[in-house]
Amino acid sequence: MNKIPDYFGSMVFDDRVMRATLSTEVYQILKKTIDEGAQLDLTVANAVADAMKNWAIAKGATHYTHWFQPLTGITAEKHDSFISPSPDGSVIMEFSGKELIKGEPDASSFPSGGLRATFEARGYTTWDPTSYAFIKGKTLCIPTAFCSYGGEALDKKTPLLRSMEALNKQALRILRLFGNDHVKYVRTSVGPEQEYFLIDKKMYDQRSDLRFTGRTLFGAKPPKGQEMDDHYFGVIKPRVAAYMEELNEELWKLGILAKTEHNEVAPAQHELAPIYTTTNIATDHNQLTMEIMQKVAAKHGLVCLLHEKPFAGVNGSGKHNNWSMATDNGVNLLSPGETPYENAQFLLFLCAVIQAVDDYQDLLRIAVATAGNDHRLGANEAPPAVVSIFLGDELNAVLEAIENDTPYCGVAKMQMKLGVDVLPKFNRDTTDRNRTSPFAFTGNKFEFRMLGSSNSIACANIMLNSAVAESLKNYADKLEKATNFESTLHEMIRQTIKEHKKIIFNGNGYDDAWIKEAVEKRGLLNYRTTADCLPHLLDDKNIAMLTAHGIFSEAEIHSRYEITLENYCKTVVIEANTMVDMAKTEIMPAIEDYILALAQTAVAKKTLDAAIPCSYESNLLKKLSVLIEQINIKTDALQEALITRHTAENIGAEAMIIRDAILIKMSELRVICDEAETITAKKYWPFPTYGDLLFGVK
Ligand code: ADP
Ligand code: MG
Repeated sequence: MNKIPDYFGSMVFDDRVMRATLSTEVYQILKKTIDEGAQLDLTVANAVADAMKNWAIAKGATHYTHWFQPLTGITAEKHDSFISPSPDGSVIMEFSGKELIKGEPDASSFPSGGLRATFEARGYTTWDPTSYAFIKGKTLCIPTAFCSYGGEALDKKTPLLRSMEALNKQALRILRLFGNDHVKYVRTSVGPEQEYFLIDKKMYDQRSDLRFTGRTLFGAKPPKGQEMDDHYFGVIKPRVAAYMEELNEELWKLGILAKTEHNEVAPAQHELAPIYTTTNIATDHNQLTMEIMQKVAAKHGLVCLLHEKPFAGVNGSGKHNNWSMATDNGVNLLSPGETPYENAQFLLFLCAVIQAVDDYQDLLRIAVATAGNDHRLGANEAPPAVVSIFLGDELNAVLEAIENDTPYCGVAKMQMKLGVDVLPKFNRDTTDRNRTSPFAFTGNKFEFRMLGSSNSIACANIMLNSAVAESLKNYADKLEKATNFESTLHEMIRQTIKEHKKIIFNGNGYDDAWIKEAVEKRGLLNYRTTADCLPHLLDDKNIAMLTAHGIFSEAEIHSRYEITLENYCKTVVIEANTMVDMAKTEIMPAIEDYILALAQTAVAKKTLDAAIPCSYESNLLKKLSVLIEQINIKTDALQEALITRHTAENIGAEAMIIRDAILIKMSELRVICDEAETITAKKYWPFPTYGDLLFGVK
C-alpha cells in the first residue's frame, strides 16, 4: 500500500501539477487569476487546457466534463471525449482553452424557477479556476458555475462566489481603517462535519420508502434505540471500518482533507469531518464527499443514507458548518488577537456576525429549509428552528462590560474602553461545548449547526457571507466618515451589542422555556417549517440586501423561492404516494395473510376439539381487523388530501396544504401501521424492521 502523502491529491490538477506542467509565465498568470480573480486570455487558457489534457490522459482519462451544481442540490456532469478525427481515419486527443473556459449544456431540464424562457434552452458553464480540476473515474472534471443564456445564475456556486466577493470587499474596507494596508484579500473558510447512516444494501432494497425517498415512512420503535448512549464514539465495527478506510483513500486521492471519523449518537450513524478550507472549495469537496460516500458504500454492500431523518425516534443527520474569515496572510479575523488594537478589530468582526445573524435570522433559516430538515429542527436532537448565538461565558462578559461601561472582571480587572489602548487581552474560550446552539462561537470560528446532512453547504454560506458583508458595509460607511475613529468605533460596538444582544443565548437550546422566551420576550423568529419560512425570502429587506451586494438579482431570488418550495412539495408528495403504495400493496396484504393464518389455526383447533381455547387467535385477529380497517380509511384520506393540493393557486398555497393536510395525514397513517407491525408475526411483515436496519451492519 502506498503511503498517504504519495497518493494524496494524485487525481487533482493542483498547484504542484501546475508548477510542473506549465511554463513559468503561464503558471504565474494562472496563479494571479486564482488568487486575485484576474482575467485569463485565450492563449493562457489554451496552454492550461493542453497541460490539463496531457496530465489527465496520462492518468487514464478519456473524457472531460464541466462539473456544476444546479439547483437540484446535487452535481451535474455531461461527458465529452477528448477525441477529434484526423483526415487519415485516426483520432487525436484535443482540448482547447475555449472548451476549458466555457461549456454550453442544454439547460432545459434543470430547475430554473421560471428564469429560462423555454424557447432559449441554452445554459452556460464557466470555469471556476479557484477550485482545482480533478479526475473522477475516467473523466477530467472542471469545476464550473452555471448560468442561463440571459446570464442569470442557475446554480449554487455563482451566488456563493459572489457572496465571497461581497464579504471580501467590505472586510477589506474595515481592515484598511485599522491600518492593514498589505492585506490583498479576505476569504471565508469552512469545515463541514458530515453525518450519515450506513445500512445493509439487501435490506435497503426491500424497502420502497428508502429507495424512493431516502427515509423510512413506516417502522415501529425497536426494543433498543439510542437510549444506552453506547454508539457515540464507540468501537467502529469491522464492516464500517473497511468502508471508512476505502472512503478516506478515495477522498485523499481527490485532495479532500478527510480528517476525523467516528460513530455518532444513533445506531448505524457516523460522522466524517475534513480539515477546513476556502468556502467554495469546501463546497465542491462536500458535494464530492457525499457522492463518494454513496459510491464506496455500494462496493461494500452498504447504502449510505444522507437524508436528514431516515428513522423516526432516533437522531437524524445534520452538517455542522464551521465558518471563519481570514486574510491572505493567514490572520483569522475571528481570533482574539495579541494586542488591544487587534482585539478591537476582532470585536468589530464579531459584532458584524452577531448583527448579521440577528438581522437575517430568516435568511439563515431559509438557507437550511428542506422537507427533510423540518423533521430535525426543534425535535430535541438538533438546534431549534429559532436562530440564536452562543458566545460562551468569557466573551459574553466582555460584551456586557462594553455595553454597560462597567469593569470587566475576566483576565484583568479594568475598565472596558475600546479606546484601543486599554482593551485587555482575553483568552479564547475553547472549553465551552454548547451542543444545543444553532450558531456557536467556538474560539476562533462560528459553528452553524442547523444544516441538514443532505444540504449543499453553498446555501448557508451564501446567506452568511452576504449578511456579514452587509454589517461590515454599514460599519465601514460610518467609520470612513468618522472624525474620531476610536470613539466612533467604541460607540458603534456598544450600540451593536445593545441592539443585537437579543440574539445571544448561552443556555440550553433544546429547552421549551427557551423557545417561549425567544419568541415572546425577545421577538426572535420561529419558522417551524419550510412552508413557513420560505415566503420571507421575498421580504423587502432581504431582497434589498441581497441585490445591493450583487448576490442575486430580484429575478434570481424569485426563482429560488419557486424552486425551493416546489422541491418541498414534490418531496412530500412522493413520500405520501410511497406510503399509499406501501400500505395498499404491502402492509394490508401482509396483515391479511396473518389474519388468515390466525383464522385457519383457530378453525383447525376447533375442528380438532371444540374445547380447545383459541382466544389468542380470535383476539389478535379482531385487533388486526380493526387496525386494517383504519389503515384503509387513513390511506384513502391521504389520497384525497393529495388531490386537494391541485386546488392551490400557487406554490406558496400548495406548500401550506402540504404542511397542514398532507403531512398530518401521513403521520396518522403511519401510527396505525406501526401499531400493526408490533402485533404482526415478523415473518409476515413485508419489509425489514427498524431493529433489522439499525443493527444489521456488523
Ligand atoms: P469539534 O467541533 O467536533 O470539536 P473542531 O472544532 O476541532 O471539532 O473542528 C470541527 C471542524 O471545524 C473541522 O472541519 C475543522 O477543520 C473546522 N475548523 C477548525 N478551525 C476552523 C476555522 N478557523 N475556520 C473554519 N473551520 C475550522
Ligand atoms: Mg463541531
